[in-house]
Amino acid sequence: MARVYNFSAGPAVLPLEALQEAQADLVDYKGSGMSVMEMSHRGKEYDALHNEAIANLKDLMGLSDDYSILFIQGGASFQFAMIPMNFLGEGQTADYVNAGSWGAAAIKQARLIGNVNIAADCQKDIPTRMPTASELKWTPGAAYSHITTNETISGAQLKEIPETGSPLIADMSSDILSRPLDYGKFAMIYAGAQKNLGPSGVAVVAIRKDFAAKGSISIPTMMRYQTHIDENSLYNTPPCFSIYMICLTTRWLKRVGLQNMFKQNRDKAQLIYDAIDASKFFRGTAKKEDRSDMNVTFRLPTEELEALFIKQASEHGMKQLKGHRSVGGIRASIYNAFPVAGVNVLV
Ligand code: PMP
Repeated sequence: MARVYNFSAGPAVLPLEALQEAQADLVDYKGSGMSVMEMSHRGKEYDALHNEAIANLKDLMGLSDDYSILFIQGGASFQFAMIPMNFLGEGQTADYVNAGSWGAAAIKQARLIGNVNIAADCQKDIPTRMPTASELKWTPGAAYSHITTNETISGAQLKEIPETGSPLIADMSSDILSRPLDYGKFAMIYAGAQKNLGPSGVAVVAIRKDFAAKGSISIPTMMRYQTHIDENSLYNTPPCFSIYMICLTTRWLKRVGLQNMFKQNRDKAQLIYDAIDASKFFRGTAKKEDRSDMNVTFRLPTEELEALFIKQASEHGMKQLKGHRSVGGIRASIYNAFPVAGVNVLV
């Protein structure tokens, strides 16, 4: 078997165990005579997988029954629109932190719906970074506040979750379940699945039920969080296979343990950052205290050398190291399922 070291930012490497289990069950899922892609989303086999994925996510995040876990199509980008459509009413203000391209993308959508206050803006700063606690200006009585915990493109990660005074919503697409956090501190967490959770095609949403209940009732049914809560994410046909893979990935993560995963993630990132810091040739692009454990971004002295680095890394089995097309450079994405062995080869 020829598995490469896959540094993709997403869709990204998945746990080999989960892929192999899916492979073994692909054509005939547990004696049902069909694959998960071919069975009713209202049948007992799929139902068990759907509910186990929900239970695993809730358990890993340590969330109480005050929260619902939802599977919604349209990726994290659809959440950028769905959040203000539900929660940003007329005469209200929502606070947004603009610390990178994804925060900016969320802001762009919110502005189409209502009034946005930028609580802090460091999107264009070099080195890339997250705002400090003293920079953040929250609006008293805001409808909600929105943060991006890990800016996938810039490689900056929020290490301390701020106190905002209004319902806190986090885009955790690229670092969900990479570390233990007080997940119960958030009114809502969302993540495109294709980095730490499974394949693309679905966003995982954890939402406090009392917050969801405040959502607008004058928007289309599919766009209301309340609909997906009431229907257990089965209002319409869900992306069954993606949710099945989330079930297998979260099973694997429960076996590893979130604390162990976090330690491994930090150790992996540190190995690369240490190598960068020990060299005069490589230059990290994020401010040291905000460096991401998930997306390690760095530059070489010239773009020609970067292209050569990517080519030669590829020849040595290290794939998808190219930085995001908007910024260039090198990006080593080392999500939960990325093996330590691959980090050692890169170093
Ligand atoms: N937010 C963050 C932090 C991301 O990294 C991404 C995707 N790379 C998105 C949002 C957009 O996700 P999607 O492609 O699922 O819409």
